[in-house]
Amino acid sequence: MVLLEVKNLCVRTDGKDILKDFNLKISAGEVHAIMGPNGTGKSTLAYVLSGSERYHVTAGQIFYKNIDLLELSVEERAHEGIFLAFQHPVEIPGITISTFMRHALNAKRAHQKLPEISTLGFVKILRAKAEELHIDADILKRAVNVGFSGGEKKRMEALQMAILEPTLAVLDEPDSGLDIDSIRIMAAAVNRLHNTDNAVLLVTHYQRLLEYIVPDFVHIMVDGSIKEVGGYTLALSVEKDGYGKYV
Ligand code: ADP
Ligand code: MG
Repeated sequence: MVLLEVKNLCVRTDGKDILKDFNLKISAGEVHAIMGPNGTGKSTLAYVLSGSERYHVTAGQIFYKNIDLLELSVEERAHEGIFLAFQHPVEIPGITISTFMRHALNAKRAHQKLPEISTLGFVKILRAKAEELHIDADILKRAVNVGFSGGEKKRMEALQMAILEPTLAVLDEPDSGLDIDSIRIMAAAVNRLHNTDNAVLLVTHYQRLLEYIVPDFVHIMVDGSIKEVGGYTLALSVEKDGYGKYV
């Protein structure tokens, strides 16, 4: 089943065309990696999928589960199972991770007409997921991302993904600035989540993460569009030879 289809997408922000005739098709059960140099529009794609209003779609279409994604609000997209792990996660002072994630999960459950999970019930779920991913429970009482190291922020994204169990997880450079232990935690979260009913879109700069999360397809993105599609070996060759031949 095709989960996501991006067709001839053109996106502009601040008077600048960023995505240019961008195409991508993702079926349930697949892991896709997008690799490309800085400034090529990878984060822009992730933001457009999640519904950020800063970006203007000037042409093209996006279908998600056969619905016109561009018609859905940010909240509706999240409720329908799209999850974006940011390249730079935001801090939310005054709100603990536990409260934040419980509200996020209950909002999604309300949309699915499932009963709300109690505070106590949620603490159990959160602790179990944190333990599975080897995330220190002490951190769960702290305000979301406030004063967190880069690695800690990414662990929170991994945990949030594990709790929300998205249908389409979009991870924007989940490996940026991470040490190898944090990369392993991120990869474990993705690999535990992944099954035949969902899909993962992984934006990465380096091939290293792909040793832990093996993609079915690797897309090379340069200057706002996909220049080549291949398997895992494409990631290896591009890391060796660079993006020069696509420019
Ligand atoms: P990547 O994630 O591949 O490094 P981005 O999607 O972040 O690339 O950025 C693509 C281009 O769009 C860059 O030239 C960047 O400066 C520009 N850009 C991204 N977001 C904005 C914005 N909000 N306003 C202006 N320019 C932006
Ligand atoms: Mg980026």
